[in-house]
Amino acid sequence: MIRIGVFGAGGRVGATVCAAVMADPALELVAAIDPAHAGESADGVEIVADPAAIDVPVDVVIDFTHVDAARTNLLWAAEQGVHAVVGTTGFDFDDHERFRKAFAHSNCIIAPNFAIGAVLMMSFAEKAAPYFETAEIVEMHHDMKRDAPSGTAMLTAERMAAASGEWAPDPTEQVVVAGSRGGEGPGGIHMHALRVRGMVASQEVILGTTGQALTIRHDTYDRSAFMPGVLLAVKAIGDRPGLTIGLDQLLDL
Ligand code: NAP
Repeated sequence: MIRIGVFGAGGRVGATVCAAVMADPALELVAAIDPAHAGESADGVEIVADPAAIDVPVDVVIDFTHVDAARTNLLWAAEQGVHAVVGTTGFDFDDHERFRKAFAHSNCIIAPNFAIGAVLMMSFAEKAAPYFETAEIVEMHHDMKRDAPSGTAMLTAERMAAASGEWAPDPTEQVVVAGSRGGEGPGGIHMHALRVRGMVASQEVILGTTGQALTIRHDTYDRSAFMPGVLLAVKAIGDRPGLTIGLDQLLDL
């Protein structure tokens, strides 16, 4: 039985994670941490405000919080020798380097998207990149999302930029409304972040070359989409020393 603690247990994704952990016979939810929901119950486990209040052994913590909170939570997990499965987005390169050093006695998996369809979308976009000269990424999320662009959009652009250095320059000479061309991501790939009430998470990667365009689109309709990936990571993390970035590392893609 793997003993699980959930950071952000009262949040949109964290609450779904607690229920998924409870429903898995190989896992046991032993701790739930979320200052905004302290004192409430997460599937029968009392939510505490701070990890210092955890008085039971934990094997793996799962973090779906906010980037500032997650930075602290992950360093706590590394100090405690507890494995961490992280879905929180918004980390930068320096964070990754810090976590790479910190996780010397336990392991950490950071995946900006735990939905299998999104993992495949990134893989297809990376594969298509060398055959096109222009590419833009449009990510669409609910209107409560705090970071932009999404971690999935960033990772997609990073992988496409690594797969091809042959991107055409932006032809724009006059910007009438500031920001119309979106943000310039890795490889100069333009990224557009939409925040739409009612939406969960969607992304389109639009690639173009002479006379043709390819659109790769993924839609998440429900947060349950992330749970098989989270549970897979929880069960695999013991065998993945150090820092692993991206769920595709755990899949035979
Ligand atoms: P949310 O509903 O705002 O939930 C986050 C929860 O964490 C909130 O209750 C928040 O409280 C709490 N929190 C803040 N500081 C904390 C701390 N130090 N320790 C423990 N809990 C703390 O957000 P969400 O929609 O669930 O998303 C959470 C994160 O997951 C975001 O970064 C999002 O981009 C990411 N995400 C990733 C995936 C993936 O597949 N990887 C999928 C969906 C979402 P307050 O509201 O008071 O701050």
